[in-house]
Amino acid sequence: MPPTANDWLERIRALPLPSRVKVLNVCGGHERAISMSGLRTALPAAVELIPGPGCPVCVCPEEDVYEAIQLALHEKVTLLAFGDMLRVPVNVPRSEPRSLEQAKAAGADIRPIASPAEAVRIAESCRGPVVFFAAGFETTTAPVAAMLAEGVPDNLFVLLSGRLTWPAVAMLLESGDAGFDALIAPGHVSTVMGPEEWEFVPHRHHVPAAIAGFRPDTLLAALHAVLSQHLTGQASLQNCYPEVVRPGGNSRARRLLSQVMEVADANWRGIGMIPKSGFVLAETYSAHDARRALPAYRNDVRKRMGEMPPGCDCAHVVLGKLYPDQCRLYGVACTPRKPIGPCMVSDEGACRIWWASGKRRNERAAAATV
Ligand code: SF4
Repeated sequence: MPPTANDWLERIRALPLPSRVKVLNVCGGHERAISMSGLRTALPAAVELIPGPGCPVCVCPEEDVYEAIQLALHEKVTLLAFGDMLRVPVNVPRSEPRSLEQAKAAGADIRPIASPAEAVRIAESCRGPVVFFAAGFETTTAPVAAMLAEGVPDNLFVLLSGRLTWPAVAMLLESGDAGFDALIAPGHVSTVMGPEEWEFVPHRHHVPAAIAGFRPDTLLAALHAVLSQHLTGQASLQNCYPEVVRPGGNSRARRLLSQVMEVADANWRGIGMIPKSGFVLAETYSAHDARRALPAYRNDVRKRMGEMPPGCDCAHVVLGKLYPDQCRLYGVACTPRKPIGPCMVSDEGACRIWWASGKRRNERAAAATV
């Protein structure tokens, strides 16, 4: 019988750990599983599990959301986006719609969707242009590539804001101040892109890494793997999710991604440009590229373009430099009902996950009152 979550916990507790080991995860699904199962409270105090860049909505550039809002408001288009994106705020005067949700309330035709297939169905039933604002990591972008490769109605355009996960981790590791000792690599992304994508972590940076699934037993197996490596000074990539993550990943998905998209330098909200971290549509698909086929609404001189809302620490939270409850606004001015930053909006945002898991205390506010 394979070891249970309790078996792995016992093995972790038996390790002769140093006073502090910081382990970064880069997947909203992992963070949700960790927070909802209360895993942090069961671990030895020396083990810090910190969420990193695992939320595509949180890192979607403010200017891309602005572009989507303006297209929806000023062109006769139907704008489609994954539901999380509708409440993400942008920096415009209070008199203007600050999110897709507010633009919808102001009369724009904006509809939440759950899949690219839904975008195709809506485009088939509409006469006018339909814009699919597609923001996401590799796992969300691959189905968009498949949709375009299979052929879409002439009136369907994609406003793409796709990102690759590994370059953000590479950027952290190359910064000289990564701030973590080991990495839990994302299970879903590795399923698509292959585990090989994460080999640079141990090979180039000598940082232990393990790919995990989403149940406590596989997360704890991965945690045990990286802690054991850390203790012995080893660094390798261990696949603790072998039933799903196979060498080479999903070859069809990867083929479609490279057929339909190219990799380019890309901006991450609050973080800045990361080399080779974004997807853009290949020339062959330019007829369906909203940025080429429809009027441009990008405004690079807009006040506070690209910035996070004042006081919001999302950029630090996304990079694993702060825990959500170390943001001074967490649970004070920023809650899921009244979110200030994207990390409190998205289901994959660390702030929202922590709030949903019952973490209501603001550590910074509490420390200030001691
Ligand atoms: S609590 Fe709100 S304001 Fe603070 S980092 Fe999270 S989303 Fe941003």
